[in-house]
Amino acid sequence: MGETTASAAEEVGTCAVCGGTAATPAWTARDTLLGGPGIFSYVRCDTCSTLRMSPRPPFEARRQAFADEYPLFDWALGRKQADPGERISRFSAQIGQVVRRQRPGRLLDVGCGDGYFMLGMERRGWEVKGIELHEGVAAYARERLGLDVVAGAEHEVEWGGPYDCVTLFGVIEDVDDPGALIERCFANLSDGGLLVVQTHNIDSWEARFFKGDWFNTEAPRHVWHFTPSTLERLLEKHRFRQVDLLHYGSSYVTERSIENRRGREFPGTFLDRFLRKAVITPAARLLPRIGQGIMIESYCRKVTV
Ligand SMILES: [Zn+2]
Repeated sequence: MGETTASAAEEVGTCAVCGGTAATPAWTARDTLLGGPGIFSYVRCDTCSTLRMSPRPPFEARRQAFADEYPLFDWALGRKQADPGERISRFSAQIGQVVRRQRPGRLLDVGCGDGYFMLGMERRGWEVKGIELHEGVAAYARERLGLDVVAGAEHEVEWGGPYDCVTLFGVIEDVDDPGALIERCFANLSDGGLLVVQTHNIDSWEARFFKGDWFNTEAPRHVWHFTPSTLERLLEKHRFRQVDLLHYGSSYVTERSIENRRGREFPGTFLDRFLRKAVITPAARLLPRIGQGIMIESYCRKVTV
């Protein structure tokens, strides 16, 4: 983690969405999730409002920061005894969205994690392949779930297209060049193929309120922050047509953000528990319905003329 200090970082002079170079300081953030060193600055593009981390630690430093994150999840802790059906059910919304839009074919999940989305899609008749940054997690998906998963960063490995569907769950905010990633999706999709891009929503009220304390700011791993409109603009720039944008809520994210801001556990008091029941949990259900989800998920088609 020593390399993730600002001294190793470089200015990011160009916006991935609009190509603009003018930007204004927005907020700073610490690695509140893992407690790593450094303070990371985000600037807002003056032209399109996309946020980018600048200066930015090089990818190799961030690769280590991702590796440090994995022990937080149960695969790395040897507690992976959960029922696969229960694990798959966490992706039931996404599985349902894909299968009602596309007949079974070949699917690539970029940043596939432990592979349960892929397993769910395989059970729906799809031929699935995954790319996962973390070797240990990729090995889990291969050995325990029998999935075809290659370890490495998406820009380092062969994708092996064409696919009928490519999914990016929580990936686009992590890469140096989101435009290059979307272009690679285009190159590896069949005509009319479906691209799914899930990321957090920096335009949500919650993000605007918590800023650097927002759980999904997640410095230094998240180096881009999109709004619904900047995400769509990026996809259109790379010849995708958005057919749907879904919003999701999460009381977990709200509660962790409160902890980050005030520096102690939530819920800790009777008032906290009341707040959770009366405000936070209902808000996580309501806000996505009014276009204020903390997560957004774009379903788009490759456009060919
Ligand atoms: Zn811009």
